[in-house]
Amino acid sequence: MTQEMKPVHEDGGMPFFCGSDNECFNECCRDLNQALTPYDILRLKNNLGIESAVFLRRYTSRHSGPESGLPVVGFKPNPATGHTCPFVTETGCSVYPDRPASCRMYPLARAVSRSRVTGEIREYFALIEEDHCKGFGKNTGKTVRQWLDTQAVDTHNFYNDKLMALISLKNAMMPGKLEEPQADMFYLALYDLDTFRLRIFHQNLLAEFCVPQSVSDTIRTSDEALLDVGLQWVQNQLFGRDMHCFEPAQEI
Ligand code: SF4
Ligand code: SF4
Repeated sequence: MTQEMKPVHEDGGMPFFCGSDNECFNECCRDLNQALTPYDILRLKNNLGIESAVFLRRYTSRHSGPESGLPVVGFKPNPATGHTCPFVTETGCSVYPDRPASCRMYPLARAVSRSRVTGEIREYFALIEEDHCKGFGKNTGKTVRQWLDTQAVDTHNFYNDKLMALISLKNAMMPGKLEEPQADMFYLALYDLDTFRLRIFHQNLLAEFCVPQSVSDTIRTSDEALLDVGLQWVQNQLFGRDMHCFEPAQEI
């Protein structure tokens, strides 16, 4: 499979159209080697109406980043189906409203940089042209930004950028591999949210990390709020022991 990356500007044209009429329909959902982010898992397990632990056990595999020791979660490899996504059907994606960010973005790749002074995030994009995808060269009249708006990926990017900031902080402050208990904590608080919630409320997991009562009430039912708490708690546990309390507006 050949792959070409072409940088594009968000105000530039998006010469791409994907639809069920394309001869390649569903080809991008086969031969997957796809990492899932915590927010991807939050949306998928809620779409399926199952607990995070069940989702993780049934659909994913976990391995460690070779340099960082951070948990990396992806769809469970299934050679019997040619590593086809478990959610693809004849008529397309069965979890479409809650598909992962990488599915929404494809064939765009996104990178970000964050200003150390203002915290402002700048986005950079490239088109990934692969042989199997026949959606290129079709003028839709949309710019890259307008096309992105149709993919409803902003909330995914918001949480994924927070995750990347946490990973960058870890790599800067704790280069090298995480210890296994640290990696387990990272996995629990970010990927296995329902178990994290149970351990907060039944085992007093956040005993040494103060969370305002209003936030504590919210995380009983809101997975997004729980993920926010998880991101800061992991930061606190790994390298921020002087940061003892959850701060609602805190950016990592
Ligand atoms: S989640 Fe949906 S869009 Fe993404 S690979 Fe699976 S079937 Fe395709
Ligand atoms: S391979 Fe490309 S054009 Fe075809 S269905 Fe997938 S994203 Fe759309």
